[in-house]
Amino acid sequence: MEPILRDTIVEIDLDNIAFNMKSIKKMVGEEVSVAAVVKANAYGHGAVGIAKTLVENGADYLAVATLNEAMEIRRYFKDYKILIMGYTPDDLLEYVVNNNIIQTIFSYNQAEILNRLGIEYNKIPNVHIKYETGLNRLGFKDSEHSLQEIEKISKLGNVHMEGIFSHLALAGKEANRIQYEKFVKAIEGLKSKGIRFKYTHIEDSISAVDHPEYRMDMIRPGSTIYGIHAYHYGFLELKQAMKFKTRITHIKSILKGEGVSYDYLWKAEKDSIIGTLPFGYADGYPRNLMGKGHVTVHGEKAPIIGIICMDQCMVDLTHIPQAKVGDEVIIYGDGSGNTLDIENASLLADTNKNEIMTRLSARSPRVYLENGKIVNVFNYIK
Ligand SMILES: *Cc1c(COP(=O)(O)O)cnc(C)c1O
Repeated sequence: MEPILRDTIVEIDLDNIAFNMKSIKKMVGEEVSVAAVVKANAYGHGAVGIAKTLVENGADYLAVATLNEAMEIRRYFKDYKILIMGYTPDDLLEYVVNNNIIQTIFSYNQAEILNRLGIEYNKIPNVHIKYETGLNRLGFKDSEHSLQEIEKISKLGNVHMEGIFSHLALAGKEANRIQYEKFVKAIEGLKSKGIRFKYTHIEDSISAVDHPEYRMDMIRPGSTIYGIHAYHYGFLELKQAMKFKTRITHIKSILKGEGVSYDYLWKAEKDSIIGTLPFGYADGYPRNLMGKGHVTVHGEKAPIIGIICMDQCMVDLTHIPQAKVGDEVIIYGDGSGNTLDIENASLLADTNKNEIMTRLSARSPRVYLENGKIVNVFNYIK
C-alpha cells in the first residue's frame, strides 16, 4: 500500500459505496442495467479506487465524460465496460478503438471514422447514439433526417450500435414526460426501419428514483452512488461515502484586537486560541465559506475565521482548549457529531452537492476504508 503523503485526505468508505450500489440495483431490479457514472474522478472519490466495488455490487457499465477518464480506468481494469458519455474529438477516436471503449456519438461522420478505424485495427467499435430531446446539450436533433442518419450508421459494416440514450433537463414532471415521449417515438421510428438497441436509457440519479416508469433498459446514476440524496418524490436508502479530513498544523494564542489572515477581515473580540489547518481553496474548499464554514475538532464546531488561503486556513479553537497539534479535524463529515455534511456545505457555499465533491482536487490523497480499516491509498501527486 502507498504511504499517505499528506495530512489532508479524502476518505472513502467502500462499504457505503457498496451499500449504495446494491440499493440502486435492488431498486431497479435485474431487468435494468446500471451504468455507474464515475466521471470527474468519481465525483472526487477516485474512479480507479471505487471501480471494483461498483462492478462487484451491481454496476454493469462505468460511465465517464471524457476519453482521458476512460483511459485511466482502462489502465487498471482491462475488462470493464466503459462508456464515454461526452464527445471525443475525431483525431482521438483512435484511442477509443484501441482501448475497447464505448463511445457516444451524434453524427454520421464520427460513425464513419470509427468504422474505418475498426477495420484498420481489426475491431468492431461499440457506440451509443446520443439523441436530443430537450436539454439542448448534445445529441442528434429530434428529426426524421436524424433517424435517416442513424439508419445510415446501422448500415456501416464495422460499427456496433449497442445503445441509444437521451438526458432529461429535469425541468418538472411534465417536461420530463415530453422528453421521454419524444425519445420513445424516435426509438419506435428506428424500430420500424429495423433498427433495435440492446440499451435505451434516459435517466440519471434523480429521475431514476422519481420516475420508475422511465427506466427503460439502463439507468445512469451518479450522485446516488456516492450517497447523495438526489430525488424529489421517491426514496432510496443511501449513505454518504466521503469524508474530508485533516490535522491541526499549528496553534497559537492571540490578544484581543489582533487580526487573522489577509486583510485582517477577522479580528479577535477577545483573547483567542487560533488553529492553523493545512487546506485551502486549492484543495477545492470553497473560498466563500469564510465566516460561514466550520470544521469539527474533538466533536465541537470550530468556525473558519478570516480569509481562506490557497493552502491553509485558520479556525477559532478558543472553546476547545484540549485541541493540540496533530489532532484530527473533520472538514466534511456525514453530519453526525457536529460535522458539516456535503449537503450543508453546498448550501452554505451557494452551490450544489456535486460541485462540493468534484472540486476536491488531486492534492489530497484518497484513502479507502473497508470495515473501518484502510485497504487502499491513492496519491495523485507523488
Ligand atoms: C453526469 C451524468 C449522469 C449522472 O448524473 P447524476 O445526476 O449524478 O446522477 C448521467 N448521465 C449523463 C449524460 C451525465 O452527464
